[in-house]
Amino acid sequence: MNWNYRCPTCGAEYAIDPGRYLCGACSAANVPGKALRGVLECVWSGTYDQSRDGPVPLPVPASFFPPIPVGDTPLWAPDRLRAELGFPKLFLKDDTCNPSGSYKDRASYLVAAFARQRGVKEIALASTGNAASSMAAVGAAAGLKITVFVPATAPIAKRVQVLQYGAELREIQGNYDLAFDKSLEYSAETGVLSRNTAYNPLTIEGKKTASFEIARALGAASGAGGKAVAPDHVFVPTGDGVIIAGVIRGFEDLLKLGAIAKMPIVWAAQAEGSSAIARAMSAPAGTDPFAETVAATTTADSISVDSPRNGYYALEKLKKYGGKAVTVSDEEILAAQRLVSAKAGLFAEPSSACAFAGFYKVRQTIDPSQSVVVMLTGSGLKDIKNAAKAVGATV
Ligand SMILES: *Cc1c(COP(=O)(O)O)cnc(C)c1O
Repeated sequence: MNWNYRCPTCGAEYAIDPGRYLCGACSAANVPGKALRGVLECVWSGTYDQSRDGPVPLPVPASFFPPIPVGDTPLWAPDRLRAELGFPKLFLKDDTCNPSGSYKDRASYLVAAFARQRGVKEIALASTGNAASSMAAVGAAAGLKITVFVPATAPIAKRVQVLQYGAELREIQGNYDLAFDKSLEYSAETGVLSRNTAYNPLTIEGKKTASFEIARALGAASGAGGKAVAPDHVFVPTGDGVIIAGVIRGFEDLLKLGAIAKMPIVWAAQAEGSSAIARAMSAPAGTDPFAETVAATTTADSISVDSPRNGYYALEKLKKYGGKAVTVSDEEILAAQRLVSAKAGLFAEPSSACAFAGFYKVRQTIDPSQSVVVMLTGSGLKDIKNAAKAVGATV
């Protein structure tokens, strides 16, 4: 297989090199703190052979991936939730059981493999907490130096993880948007590889692996003779829009390979207090859908962003494939968190519960015989304070 970066806006192609992040021409007018223009995507040509190239087409050969078991997470069939909601084909994709407890490990895994392939020794990034703890964990297994920029207000569990894994924690007196810009300054000064989400195209590509796992698991469950099957709906908790873009990329690949017959309807689930992508979905044609920045306010810290870094790219993909958006209140998020904990035995963090809350809110608009996958992207143990509040416990 041959791999390149390609700009979906102007079509320019670039070699996949450590110094390349955004499309030169299309990113020229970017300003700090805003959704990024010129986000690149990984494109491949040639033939993909699963036995030779591994279970998912990726731009780094399997031998470079560090020894840490990322991905291949379970797809739950939650019978009690199914019965309660009347959706016999409801599934929960449980990414809480990744090594650092979140979906972010999928991106960190590919970025670490790339660093090892290219002899890169240090990686820096900004994060609301999960990307930092994830890169720190995968970096520990890979033997890489990791420097993270995290708001000082990030949940304590995520900051402790970073330190446990031996990474350098730089706490920022400000929000994620400020941490993002600080980390880019650091990378520009030092030449250290940036794993900033969306900015580094491998963060999107690494997140497509879950779609392959889902389609294969559904194929196996449906008795389709080992063939992959796309779900009808996928609910994705959305902040910067990288997970959702990665999920769509995965199904795009499966479609290109002829492994699935159609794309699923992908739903961006957002908190009402951090809903830039949902708002952009209904922005009038001809206007800049991310022109306005609204300060985010939600207890779901992992999806709390003022400006979605991957907004333009995610929006384009959602529109291309008939994606939808749903927003839910913090109360609905915390209620969904308890519902999934108590009825399925899966304790997910508020951001993930947002995906379930989104499904819960729109379920009456969906044909209940259809298959629905809800992406549960982070462990509930990562933010005990909010979870405790929801059950009336004091910490
Ligand atoms: C990062 C994250 C999200 C949101 O992903 P984006 O790419 O920012 O949209 C959702 N859930 C969890 C647990 C996360 O860590």
